[in-house]
Amino acid sequence: MELQDSITTLKGVGPKKAEAFARLGVYTVEDLMFTFPRIYEDRKQILPIDKLQEGVPALFAGEVDVIRSGGYYRGRGNRVLRMLITDDTGSIEVVFFNAAYLAKTIHRGDRLAFFGKPVYNRDRLQVVHPQFEKEETVQTGILPIYPLTSGITQREMRRLQRLIEPVYSKAESILSEETVKRNNLCDMEYAIRNVHFPQERQHYLEAKYRLVFDEFMTLETGLMASKMGEKGHEKGIRFPDDGCEKELIEALPYPLTTAQQRCVREIMEDLTSERSMNRLIQGDVGSGKTAVAQIAMYKAVRSGYQAVMMAPTEILARQHYDGLSKDFEAFGIKTGFLSGSLRAAEKRQVLEELADGTIQVLIGTHAVIQPDVEFHDLGLVITDEQHRFGVSQRIKLKNKGDRANVLVMTATPIPRTLAVVLYGDMDVSVIDEMPPGRIPIITQCLSGPEDRQRCYDFVERQIRQGHQIYVVTPLIDESEAMDARSAVQVYEELSRRFSRTEMIHGAMKQDEKDDIMARFSAGEIDILVATVVIEVGINVPNATVMVIENAERFGLAQLHQLRGRVGRGKAQSYCFLINEGQSELAAKRGSIMESSADGFFIAEEDLKLRGPGEIFGTRQHGLPDLKLADMARHMNVLAAARDEAKAILEDDPGLAKPQNQPLKRRVTKLFGEDLSLNL
Ligand code: ADP
Ligand code: MG
Repeated sequence: MELQDSITTLKGVGPKKAEAFARLGVYTVEDLMFTFPRIYEDRKQILPIDKLQEGVPALFAGEVDVIRSGGYYRGRGNRVLRMLITDDTGSIEVVFFNAAYLAKTIHRGDRLAFFGKPVYNRDRLQVVHPQFEKEETVQTGILPIYPLTSGITQREMRRLQRLIEPVYSKAESILSEETVKRNNLCDMEYAIRNVHFPQERQHYLEAKYRLVFDEFMTLETGLMASKMGEKGHEKGIRFPDDGCEKELIEALPYPLTTAQQRCVREIMEDLTSERSMNRLIQGDVGSGKTAVAQIAMYKAVRSGYQAVMMAPTEILARQHYDGLSKDFEAFGIKTGFLSGSLRAAEKRQVLEELADGTIQVLIGTHAVIQPDVEFHDLGLVITDEQHRFGVSQRIKLKNKGDRANVLVMTATPIPRTLAVVLYGDMDVSVIDEMPPGRIPIITQCLSGPEDRQRCYDFVERQIRQGHQIYVVTPLIDESEAMDARSAVQVYEELSRRFSRTEMIHGAMKQDEKDDIMARFSAGEIDILVATVVIEVGINVPNATVMVIENAERFGLAQLHQLRGRVGRGKAQSYCFLINEGQSELAAKRGSIMESSADGFFIAEEDLKLRGPGEIFGTRQHGLPDLKLADMARHMNVLAAARDEAKAILEDDPGLAKPQNQPLKRRVTKLFGEDLSLNL
């Protein structure tokens, strides 16, 4: 048996099973070997029945003593099967519902082993629906529980793992002997064997540590390779240092803040130098990142290149397009828009004009990274709200050009450790200053029906003064949960009282959303009830009140983002956080939101309150999926793996050396084939 053998070579795996395995991403014996258990059950010993405890899943065995079939459960006609299991120490009742068929397979006097969680029924312990098998075949130990898909059972998965156990010894090490020693790691065979079939918890921990290290090593090597590639290109596209960007800066309706000026200067230094730009702009909501991006795009176009900006939602992309195309038009620059919702003919025209260079600036959603999009001469790529995109999307965008300059923008303050992982050797500019004249937003936490009443009375007065209101709710309709006020419910309530109320949510058709947003921007709608679709980027300066229903459902950083939708104009703005119920945590969160307008501070406090797990919760950061490693919990491992990855790439940038082939294969596998990693 070889690692690269198809799983169909294994006994009992036919085409049907192979299909099911494909759903788990398992094609080869090696893939199967790298399918790790989700959790483990401690079945190290068969417990005497008198030692069984309520609520503690356990393995026990005994003789089937009495079987009673029949009886009905909750009048639904479910046959109930009860049996008494007895060993030397005592007896316990085992119950199966709706399982009369078992009466045919289980007989008095059989010796069976069971695994399940004892619970009290009246004052006696019983076990409902345990797993069971013949006592003579039961395996003791720490039992792996694998991720499954329909068509594959737990038992089968374990059987196959046992079957391929002989090739565990062929598992390739992506680490050199020295690296293994230096980091006190166990060898691969030990790691694989003990992650599948640990004898002791300690063995499992050693195994896991090695595999987590490997995962981080793979991740870091991939991330660094994608970045080193950029540096490896030595020369980027160099724009002339002619100061032409001043034309646009002077045409803006406001002077740049000092922070914006610094940021523009840093960008111009990158753009006019030999090496290509690779810069992250970090700036709190409302700090004016768009203007900075606009200046960079202007520079690119004036230097004879195209520029593209990708935004995470259609609404946001549209808004950017509407604003920027007008500004650019004054300079005779043609701006195009691309999203999935364009009609075929419109799209064709955009693609043509893009390919022949007629369109100089393209703004769009992730539609801009689709394979059919070709540029004439792309010199600058910008990702707005970068945290909403994955690493691979960012790299795809970059690869639309040849050595294009890269700018990514985010309002999410990223904890340092994660920033290092995600943005590695990117240069960072921070916009740490708000445009002048902003009046701080007044934030208040509310709870209960009276507070809500007062809040909407206040909303009414604001509307009379000509202002507009956002109301954000966590859910679309009530079917999703009983206790959160849904967008639909809130919308119905409010539209009875306020005539110009509309609702917008992610499940709506694009043109409906566009239409509503356009009318809100134009001031034709007073209250916009929305789910978090409006979270990022929307800019309507006349909106002065943000009401957030069920605020307890949102993270602080998200509340801060939402709040940033108001306070963009000259009038005093307000944010009301309506909490369901009152807890100490809610009070703490409330006082943080009421007292601070600093996104970085809020994110840090959020981290303290919720713990890192929630914040880095999978997918938030757009990294490829890791099986065992957890960014938040294994930070020290991450740092060590990073150092090793760096050393390897410095020595062998393209991973061309024979000893680095296993690593190269793993990296390619993790990031996918479509990603050009310059390896
Ligand atoms: P964000 O950084 O959240 O993307 P935007 O770029 O949307 O922020 O800017 C928020 C608002 O601030 C916009 O209405 C923009 O026109 C305005 N703005 C940006 N820069 C300045 C400035 N220097 N002076 C005054 N207003 C500005
Ligand atoms: Mg923005």
